[in-house]
Amino acid sequence: MEPKFSKIVSTQMESAAKKAYPCECCGILVGKKSEKGEIEVTEIREASNQIQGGQEATHFRIDPLNLYYIERELESSNLEIVGFYHSHPDCKAILSDEDRKYMVPGLVYTIMSVTAHGVVDVKSYTRDRV
Ligand SMILES: [Zn+2]
Repeated sequence: MEPKFSKIVSTQMESAAKKAYPCECCGILVGKKSEKGEIEVTEIREASNQIQGGQEATHFRIDPLNLYYIERELESSNLEIVGFYHSHPDCKAILSDEDRKYMVPGLVYTIMSVTAHGVVDVKSYTRDRV
């Protein structure tokens, strides 16, 4: 099932990808999951990529402490972490082997293909669809 992104969230994600280019950006998708499994992304949190692999890097890792603080902050709201986004500079918006390896079932992984001209493609994946 395709997650829903609000216009503001899409714009924020794309500007993060453009700002980081030619490096990767990554961050956390915050939102709601319905009982039917529909995911709605209402906010994003930018994070720093712990892997500094240069331009060819197509995977990412977010500091667990960063995640912990966001989870704690969301405890008192009706929102939760629903997935992650990252960019593939000058690469297609498809999962790399590393991306696949670290996917957690039930979470959304959004990849943006970004070039010098901006974001050219955005795709979302979940583990059960791989
Ligand atoms: Zn990747």
